[in-house]
Amino acid sequence: MPEKNRSVYIETLGCQMNVADSERAAGVLRAAAFDLVKSADEADVVILNTCSVRARAEAKVFDRIGEIRHRRNGAQPLIGVMGCVAQLEGEALFQKRNSIGFVAGTRAADRLPDLVNRALGGESRVMDLAERLPGEKWNVGVEHRTSGKTAFVPIIEGCNKFCSYCIVPYSRGREKSRPASEIIREIAGLKTQGYEEVYLIGQNVNSYRPNVIDGLEEVAGATPFAKLLRAVARTGMGRIKFTTSFPRDFHTDIVSALDEHENLCNWVHLPVQSGSDRVLRAMRRGYRIADYMQRVAWIKGARQRLALTSDIIIGYPGETSEDFQQTMELVERCQYDGLYIFKYSERKGTPAAKQFDDVSKEEKASRFARLEELQRSIQTKIYRSYIGSMVEVLVEGASARRADELSGHTTCNKIINFSTEGVEAASLIGKPMPVVVTEAKRNSLYGRIAV
Ligand code: SF4
Repeated sequence: MPEKNRSVYIETLGCQMNVADSERAAGVLRAAAFDLVKSADEADVVILNTCSVRARAEAKVFDRIGEIRHRRNGAQPLIGVMGCVAQLEGEALFQKRNSIGFVAGTRAADRLPDLVNRALGGESRVMDLAERLPGEKWNVGVEHRTSGKTAFVPIIEGCNKFCSYCIVPYSRGREKSRPASEIIREIAGLKTQGYEEVYLIGQNVNSYRPNVIDGLEEVAGATPFAKLLRAVARTGMGRIKFTTSFPRDFHTDIVSALDEHENLCNWVHLPVQSGSDRVLRAMRRGYRIADYMQRVAWIKGARQRLALTSDIIIGYPGETSEDFQQTMELVERCQYDGLYIFKYSERKGTPAAKQFDDVSKEEKASRFARLEELQRSIQTKIYRSYIGSMVEVLVEGASARRADELSGHTTCNKIINFSTEGVEAASLIGKPMPVVVTEAKRNSLYGRIAV
């Protein structure tokens, strides 16, 4: 009798890059005759794809391993850790938890079948923290994508920026851009499979710089990323979004490309992190506020209305009340459509962790609340300004509020809920719909289908 396939469950924590890595891991495991299952309770092998951006990353992984093992009465699964925590901690994970059977770094997804088979075959402490192999293709089968309508397409991995507080350059290595021809082929294929939207993803997408310019020879553009945007737009994919952009590498030609192509969405996420030049220098961000505001002027000066969102860290070591005041002033000037505010907390292994975390918990909480309040008032005004206008929504499913309402994201990346008014709701899911905005809440819009 043929041997039964082993089953694998992959659990993903963290960013879109991890989602994309898990999709890729699922593809190679399936191709190697593993069955993919939806719960850790029934799997022979459990893989935790981990994130180290937030505090207590390692402890959270151990807590989750404890939970998984606790729920199993009979045979315990083989447990593997992949992703950022795996890359950073390596061998130490085996010492801290002997229930871990294998460790796969951030660039080992394609080699998972071999690692898993070796661990299942009885080899202990199987580990791979190596680079991707030259020529590895980024193949993800449609059956392994998280969504049938929106796909994440990594275009660049890693980061060369080494901001003082960030662990990513250590966990994901140096920047490596995928060949443009491969990206364009993948997106053209996704369009054929019925995908409506792609997100070009990477730590800094606009730092895109492939070794070989193949596929972009005939495309106009001041930077490889601006060329790539135009080339991807020409595939005819319905909606194209990209995140994240690094301010120093943000060229005005990106805005020109967005103005030229309707399917390049009208949203830019441009993290600033602080409104103080002194703090930006300490963070080693490599730009000053004047440089950043130049980029904001380009974005706000676009022919169409572009939504602008950002990230800010408050309470970085040494941040004075004057520095914080400058951040408040910057937020007032930028009028962001959305803002992700983080309280600084140290990441082991980063240069900033060597500095004394001198802004008290209470002060961080107070600055957070003040900035949040300011952003709330700006956002309320911005969201209200959409009332009466028509937006295009990619319908994702029922809204969280009411079963008879649908919900989705606009091209400018805002959540909108809308009534279906007698239309059969199920038939609209996965489709782009024109919706007239009738109401604005703090973090979402409300509307009705345009007729
Ligand atoms: S640009 Fe800075 S914050 Fe962003 S991933 Fe690179 S090091 Fe981290």
